[in-house]
Amino acid sequence: RMAGEMPEWKKKSLGTNPTFGMKRTQLTIKQQREALPVFRYRDQIIQAMSDHQMMVVVGETGSGKTTQIPQYLAEAGFCSTGRIGVTQPRRVAASSVSKRVSEEFGCRLGQEIGYAVRFEDLTSPQTIIKYMTDGLLLRECLLDRNLSAYSVIMLDEAHERTIATDILFGLCKDACTRRKGGDNELKLIVTSATLEEEKFSKYFNECPILRIPGKSYPVEKMYANEPMEDYLAAALDTAMEIHIREEPGDILIFLTGQEEIDMGCEILYDRMKRLGDETPELIILPIYSALPSEIQTKVFEPAPPGCRKCIIATNIAEASLTIDGIKFVIDPGFVKQNAFNPRLGMDSLQVVPISRASATQRAGRAGRTAPGKCYRLYTESAYKNEMLPSTVPEIQRANLGNSVLLLKAMGINDIDAFDFMDRPPPQTLLSALESLYALNALDDEGLLTRVGRKMAEFPLEPPLSKMLLMSAELGCSEEIVTITAMLSVENVFFRPKDKQIEADGKKTQFMRPEGDHLTYLFIYEKWKKENYSSTWCARNFIQTRAMRRAQDIRQHLVSILDKYKLPLTSCGKNYDLVLKAIVSGFFNHAAKRDPTEGYRTLVENQTCFIHPSSATFQKNEDWVIYHEITVTTKEYMRHVSVINPRWLVEFAPNFYVKTDPKTISKQKAQIRLEPLYSKYQEPDDWRISKAKRRKN
Ligand code: ADP
Ligand code: MG
Repeated sequence: RMAGEMPEWKKKSLGTNPTFGMKRTQLTIKQQREALPVFRYRDQIIQAMSDHQMMVVVGETGSGKTTQIPQYLAEAGFCSTGRIGVTQPRRVAASSVSKRVSEEFGCRLGQEIGYAVRFEDLTSPQTIIKYMTDGLLLRECLLDRNLSAYSVIMLDEAHERTIATDILFGLCKDACTRRKGGDNELKLIVTSATLEEEKFSKYFNECPILRIPGKSYPVEKMYANEPMEDYLAAALDTAMEIHIREEPGDILIFLTGQEEIDMGCEILYDRMKRLGDETPELIILPIYSALPSEIQTKVFEPAPPGCRKCIIATNIAEASLTIDGIKFVIDPGFVKQNAFNPRLGMDSLQVVPISRASATQRAGRAGRTAPGKCYRLYTESAYKNEMLPSTVPEIQRANLGNSVLLLKAMGINDIDAFDFMDRPPPQTLLSALESLYALNALDDEGLLTRVGRKMAEFPLEPPLSKMLLMSAELGCSEEIVTITAMLSVENVFFRPKDKQIEADGKKTQFMRPEGDHLTYLFIYEKWKKENYSSTWCARNFIQTRAMRRAQDIRQHLVSILDKYKLPLTSCGKNYDLVLKAIVSGFFNHAAKRDPTEGYRTLVENQTCFIHPSSATFQKNEDWVIYHEITVTTKEYMRHVSVINPRWLVEFAPNFYVKTDPKTISKQKAQIRLEPLYSKYQEPDDWRISKAKRRKN
């Protein structure tokens, strides 16, 4: 867009705002680093860490905590006895921040500065600062509870209160007690963006608190007059409005997930295109964790003069990533959360209203470099009366199965006695123990079994690890490894808006009568036969990026199988074995068709429906097993396969057969067992009774 006269809007923009001129990039890296609010506290931080073992640092997002503090400590020689490990609740943050720090440090990513996330390790023996997800450090505790490889641990973004960070609180505090004093003392920094610092300090033995005052500008907040019917449409309308009418400055929209973001980008792009050349350019950029890193970095590049950036992000942009130059925030007020209902024993991904603390954080993103505006797509009354003051820590609302298994595998048997900052509800803990028992990972007394020990080795949720272990026994691990990898990546299908019918047609060709799991297997195998070709993917509306990631994950899982000498064998066309292995992990995700509508879960008789994207949609199969439930307009089962109900009894005897009053309440036992126990426990009896009935 070089030719022609410059529209009014563009003229105004040039040079007046740091984002639009090239001001920011003209600063040297050193100048940029020294301009950050945390820089004035450099010496104080180094001094405090020499004098104390633990410290809490609070500062607004963007003040430089994540990128600078580890470098200060490295420069001051804190890494002579080990690495500096920095945890992030999110994968994208770990990779993006480490990339930035490696540039500041002046090394190739993976050398002195590296990162590691599940299924990906970009560190080397030279690495002195290692960024990683909290989940990854938690797994490292499994091998070494003293964290001997590290001299400093920084638990970053502690306000996010993910389960892994919460458990690391206890484990790191414990490691600090064991590595206290002497040359090899372990140092701990807990950093946070919000105001729970007193609580953190109290928990970490009354350690000192350092507060970094942020530099932020006022943000004008605007509310919707009435509740929005469709927040996606409202958000895009608002973005268009801003772009056409408002002064220069970038836009940040908070949406809930990849699919919504991709759709938002596409619609916005279409609508911009229709406005024609008269309108200044709007650079639309998505950001969510499944995005490859080269696309992620684009978000940080300043928009060229005369253009405006519009970033459409998940909650990651709320605090973990700082993007300079945002002046307008559009906040629909929702977030996608993992929710666990201990009463129903059911996990689901749910879009829920955010908390007031979250809303404040989101608005704050608009006032980092200049005064800004925040468009809240909810009413002021909803903000005041319906939103919770702060987000409930994940440990109090999510499934603890994986965490309990890890703690048990670390030899921490009495979970009740663990030093939690906030205790999980007893019902949730009990439910985790119950599910691990049902998976045969724990025995009657709650002690780790051999199966449980092996399950803990896989960086997967317990049902997936169980399925994988069982597949090695059943002789279908080749197939299950692929299926597990495919389930671990987000959507592999590509459905562009203008070619939906064609895309759906291609997808239908891959669908297997057995259901989605085998459909994924077939797609992967076909791709493999085509030499992992990206042209083949494009032709079949499959996302190459997702497939490559599945390939990486698969490779990773195969190496873990190798390490534990578990055989990698194929079952050929005996797909029942594959389905049986799935049942061995996901038996409590079984559902039976309801004669009136949809399905009902076997465990708690909840009504649910097959997602329209499933290969089993409208097939009216009687018994199915699902991978997860997503709640949108309805409770939708996703990744669904057809099963024989007898397999449930065969592969989950602890769950469907044994009625140990210690692990299962009477009422629950009745609900679970009556539909199956009497009929299916002994297949022969069942046949006899049926035959008898016929005779009568
Ligand atoms: P905090 O952890 O306190 O929120 P950070 O250390 O993450 O702050 O960010 C400090 C500054 O570093 C940001 O304001 C931004 O300018 C810059 N920055 C961070 N990550 C990147 C990146 N990936 N690319 C470019 N700049 C970045
Ligand atoms: Mg940070």
